[in-house]
Parts: sequence; C-alpha cells; structure tokens
Amino acid sequence: MPSTDADTWGGSPFVKFDNVQKSYDGESLVVKGFNLYIDQGEFITLLGPSGSGKSTVLMMMAGFEHPTHGEIILKGQPISQLPPHKRGIGLVFQNYALFPHMTVAENLAFPLQVRNLPKSDIETKVKRALDMVRLGEFGDRRPAQLSGGQQQRVAVARALVFEPELVLMDEPLGALDKNLREEMQYEIKHIHEDLGVTMIYVTHDQSEALTMSDRIAVFNDGIVQQLASPQESMSVPQTHLLPSSLVKTIDCAERSRTLTGNNVRSRCQRPNYHCKPRSCWCSGR
Ligand code: ADP
Ligand code: MG
Repeated sequence: MPSTDADTWGGSPFVKFDNVQKSYDGESLVVKGFNLYIDQGEFITLLGPSGSGKSTVLMMMAGFEHPTHGEIILKGQPISQLPPHKRGIGLVFQNYALFPHMTVAENLAFPLQVRNLPKSDIETKVKRALDMVRLGEFGDRRPAQLSGGQQQRVAVARALVFEPELVLMDEPLGALDKNLREEMQYEIKHIHEDLGVTMIYVTHDQSEALTMSDRIAVFNDGIVQQLASPQESMSVPQTHLLPSSLVKTIDCAERSRTLTGNNVRSRCQRPNYHCKPRSCWCSGR
C-alpha cells in the first residue's frame, strides 16, 4: 500500500519529480515541466501515446538521461548527479535485454555479482527470484531456449533479484500476444503486491493502466494531463486519451479489486474477468 507517512524523508515523498524538463536538441522540450509525487509502495503508470516522452522520463529516473532543468528527488535526496548503478533501481524494458550468452541463472546472478554479494547469497537470491516468476526449472537454459513470455519473466526476475525499492517498467509487455500479456499483467501486479516494491510502469494501453495501477498519470506532449486513480480516471475523464466509451471498464476494474479469497472463481462470470486462486482481475475489454 502507498505510504501515508509524508515525513519519512524530511517531508519529501518517496519519489518527487520537481519541474523536470528535457530537451535532446537544446531547442524543443520533449518533457515540459514534469511534476509528480510518488508514494513508497505505489504502482503508478505513465499512460500516453507513442512519442509523448514516457521513456525519456524513465531514462531520467534511471540515470541514463539527465534533466535539462529541474530535479528528481529520491527519498529526500536529489539524484541527478548519481550514476545509474548507484540509484538501486530495477529496470524492465520491452525487448527483454537479456544477455544471450549467459544462462537464465547467470543473467539473474549478474546484478548481484556487480554488487559484490557473496556466492551463497547469490545462489539463494537467484533461486528465490526464479521461483517468484515460476521459472525454477529453467535456470540452466539460455534466453534463446525460452518463449517470449518466459524471457520477459526472466527480465522481471532480473530487475527484482537485487531487491530494489523502485522498479521501472517501460512497456514490458508490448511484444507479447494478448493472452500472454494479460497473464503477465496479473503476475506483475501480484509480485508488486507481494513485495510492496514501488513501481513506475509505462504503457500506451489504457486497459493495462486501468487494471494494474494505484494511480495513472496521463502523459501527453511532455506534460501530465491528468493524475488520478483508475476509478477517477474513468468516472471523470479529463482528457481525450480516456474516451467515455471506456467508462464501462471501471465497473469491472472496481469489482475486480473487491474480489479476493479462494471462492472468487464462481463469482466471476463475465468474460473479461480473469480469476486466479487468490484474486480476480479484469482485462477491461
Ligand atoms: P515515448 O516513450 O512516450 O514513446 P520518448 O520519450 O521515447 O517517447 O520520446 C519522446 C520524444 O523524444 C520523441 O519525439 C523522440 O523522437 C525523442 N527522443 C527520444 N529519445 C531521443 C534521443 N536519444 N535523442 C533525440 N531525441 C529523442
Ligand atoms: Mg517509449
């Protein structure tokens, strides 16, 4: 659950984007005055069309790009001068980005080795991360011997294996087909709830944003146009990105949140409810 203790970091939220701007060419701003506060444990989604600057925001958070103006503050500390490896942030991209010459287990061990963890700790953590994404039997395979969905689960495990407090996911499911995408949405949400890790998730898919997020920042043309819970986003759509034809989705998303326990299967009759033993969720279609 999102933190309610706003004073934990001297009054600062877990992550604060403070009037962040970015220009690649020194003339036009790709990100224009980006302001966003994120609570610890929150699942926040940047939802916006292609080219709106979503990846640029994530790259600045990760430290691979630098703001032209403004500052990003993590746990009360400005991080613009901090290199990526010192930010302790897990990353998942659309194209998996696994090392092809390494086995799955070696891919997962890598972030721990660069952090100089003892070998025995590495083995334990790699095993735990593989089990978390249900790939316990696949440690010895190479990425090319896995399906796309399995490769993306390895990428998720690799982002989480060093137990980061913050994970960034940039359209991680974009390359997967619809069924697999929906299954992975559930898995990622489930992992988020289990670990309590803070997630900044990027997608251009409205239903994905609605089913996964605590809050959605609708991002367009370099600015946040609307910041709201999925329920609020749908009941009072303030931007053209949330057409009223999708408002019916909210009933489903709302209902899916209230369904928990082992007997939910029988309560989910509509085709767009997806039920697993512990919870129900909704594809929103
Ligand atoms: P999104 O992730 O929402 O699709 P991006 O952040 O990738 O958007 O891109 C926003 C804009 O910035 C686009 O016009 C894109 O062409 C431009 N852009 C992204 N990365 C670079 C870069 N490294 N150099 C120059 N322009 C870039
Ligand atoms: Mg992008």
